[in-house]
Order: sequence, then C-alpha cells, then structure tokens
Amino acid sequence: MTIYNFAAGPATLPDQVLAQVQAELTNYQGTGLSILEISHRSVQFTTLLAQAKQLLLQLMNLTEREYEVLFLQGGATLQFTMVPLNLANKFHRVAFVNSGHWAERAMAEAKLIPDLAVEEIATSAPQFNHFPTVEFTGPAQYDYLHLTTNNTIFGTSLKQLPAANLPLVGDLSSNFLAQDYPFDHFDLIYAGAQKNLAPAGLTVVVVKKSLLSQMPTALPAMLSYRKLAAKDSTLNTPPVFQIYVAKLVLEWLVSQGGVSAMEAINRQKAQLIYEVIDQTNFYHNPVRPADRSLTNIPFTTGNSALDQTFITTAEQAGLKNLKGHRLTGGMRASLYNAMPLAGAVALRDFMLQFAKDHA
Ligand code: PMP
Repeated sequence: MTIYNFAAGPATLPDQVLAQVQAELTNYQGTGLSILEISHRSVQFTTLLAQAKQLLLQLMNLTEREYEVLFLQGGATLQFTMVPLNLANKFHRVAFVNSGHWAERAMAEAKLIPDLAVEEIATSAPQFNHFPTVEFTGPAQYDYLHLTTNNTIFGTSLKQLPAANLPLVGDLSSNFLAQDYPFDHFDLIYAGAQKNLAPAGLTVVVVKKSLLSQMPTALPAMLSYRKLAAKDSTLNTPPVFQIYVAKLVLEWLVSQGGVSAMEAINRQKAQLIYEVIDQTNFYHNPVRPADRSLTNIPFTTGNSALDQTFITTAEQAGLKNLKGHRLTGGMRASLYNAMPLAGAVALRDFMLQFAKDHA
C-alpha cells in the first residue's frame, strides 16, 4: 500500500530526497563521515551552505547582491520576536494583517517588546474564513507591514501582495516555494522549514541587505540578523543536517521547474480536493473560494463522529495525518510541494467513496 502523509508539519519530503539522504548517510561525498557528524567549519559544509543559499535565491528570483539568506533555529516562532527587534527602529510602530492564528501569535510576541506600538490594520477574525483586504490611505508611518501569506490552520492564502509604500515582511512558512509571489516585493521573508523544505529545526530568513546596515548593533548575537549575517549563519553551530536536506530539496525543486511549476501542480492537487468538497454536498470548507489555500485544506462532514470515522478509515487506507487542527476540528489535508499528484488523486478517490458509503 502506498502511504501518503498529509501532515501540516513536520511534513512529507520528496521520496527522491529521502532516498539520497539514505544512500549517502554513512559516507558523505566520499569523506567516510556521515553528514550527521560533519563539522560546520568543514569545507564540505561551507560548500553546501553556499550552494543552498544560491539555489534558494535562484528559485525566488532574487540576487545575492540584494538579498541575504540566513539559516537559523528557533522556528518561525522566534522570528515573531526577531523581526520587530531588528526592523522596528524608526517609527517604533508596526502594522499587522490578522489573517489567523499564526498572525495573532506573531502580534502577541511583538507586543512583548517594550515601547513598540503593534497595530492590527486588517483582520478576518474571528472566523478567518477569508483573507483580509489590506488598504492603505495616506503615508504609512510604520516600520513594516507583516503578512502571513498562508493560513495553515484555517486554509486561506493571499493571492496578491498589497500595494503598500512601506517595508513588507512575510511569514511564508506554509506556502514557502509552493505559491509564487514576486519575492522581491518583500524586505524580509521567513519560513519554518518543516513544511516545504526540510526536517524541523531550521528556519530560513531572506532579508534585504540594505536593511542589515540599519539594524541595531546592541542586540544579543543570536537575535541579531546583522551579526548572524556577518558570520554567514555560523555564528554558532548551525543545524547541519537540516541545511543539507534543504539543499537537496532545493535541487529537487529546480529539477521540477521551480516555484511557478510547483504552484501549477499545487493548484491541480488542491483543485481535485476542492471539487469534491463543492460538488458532493457531503463535505464542507468555509473559506471564500478566491482565498482558498493551495497547501492546507480544512474540511468537515459537519458531524464530528463521522469526521473521526473518516480520519481512522483514511489512515487504514494509507492516507495519514488528516486530522484537523485542534482549533477547527474536522480534517485538514496539507498538500505541500512534496505531496505527489497521485497522493491528491488517492485522497480525492477516498473522499468520493467515503461520501458514497456514508451518505
Ligand atoms: N507561522 C505559520 C504560518 C505556521 O504555520 C507555523 C507552524 N505551523 C508557525 C508560524 C510556527 O512555526 P514554528 O513551529 O517553526 O515555530
């Protein structure tokens, strides 16, 4: 039986990448050492770090001249704190679009920073069943606007970046390299790696180099983009294995045709599931169709006992981790880049059969 993992994160990785990791796990590039025991000061690691940075910039259509790539730890959650600490220097005032739980978490962490005004300028609370519209009138006296481009829990995503005359910061954790954006519109992008890129334990930050020199120098080293960038993400021991897997995933993404090709496949995959939801009248997804996420699809049957039966029966059929987030209940299918089209087809077929059996 083929197993498909629909988990929201840590999430499925490309089979090809896992096979490569396995094949060279005990002997990395003829060194006789495992990647798990290689020094972060070794030429093997510094080479792979440089390659990973270059591949990431290439996939995002960004240049090394303009953007710095940082490989950090602490999850996307630590970025909720690092972004304001480093970027909120001029107005001490930051704007947030509240599109869901993770945006709220990001705001809550920013509010813990002394003398920082945190303003919610648009919201889709409490239902979060659409992506809030962002409109700016007049000069924006904010250090930046923070967006969470994909709402992992409620299943909404931002389709078009807002036109705003202020620095743009994006938490792209759950549609990173899965949905195409003009990445050069962002001043800073961050993403926890465990959905679309690598095992948990790595966070990617892509930041405009021109901003680095304006950042405060008095921050503790591990919280300072400036100091981390000056040491090329090796200010302390970086997560070597995660960066290695990320590099393999980035190579795989290039071989698949890059971000726009991935988005096209992701659309196809998501469409299969949304079609069943809309056409059977058995499943429900509350999100405004135009704002539906490509990567996280929450749905229910409207009956929690039946939802539970769905989850257990699906599990037995090899469709794993479809349980919804505790805030929403029901089911959630995460269809990140590494989920093959065949996985979405298998889920679509299962949903149709389950609806027939339980109508
Ligand atoms: N932002 C978003 C959009 C997320 O989905 C998540 C995790 N699900 C986070 C932030 C938090 O990420 P981490 O666990 O890496 O701190």
